[in-house]
Amino acid sequence: MRIEVDWTRCDGHGLCALLLAENLGSDPDGYPVVHDTAVARDSVRHARRAVAACPALALRLVRD
Ligand code: SF4
Repeated sequence: MRIEVDWTRCDGHGLCALLLAENLGSDPDGYPVVHDTAVARDSVRHARRAVAACPALALRLVRD
């Protein structure tokens, strides 16, 4: 699976970087920096939590 950011929706809350640190970092303004779009099997639970927590509905977890 992979994580995608909808940049038209993201407004830089920075929450996702805390919840999915395996894949996402944060720039100085709070916007995500995607280190790796591929979500490892043991990180899927973290990814689902990040998607659910995004207040802008800007994260998606999709199947490859
Ligand atoms: S939690 Fe959502 S709105 Fe906030 S930085 Fe991440 S993707 Fe953007």
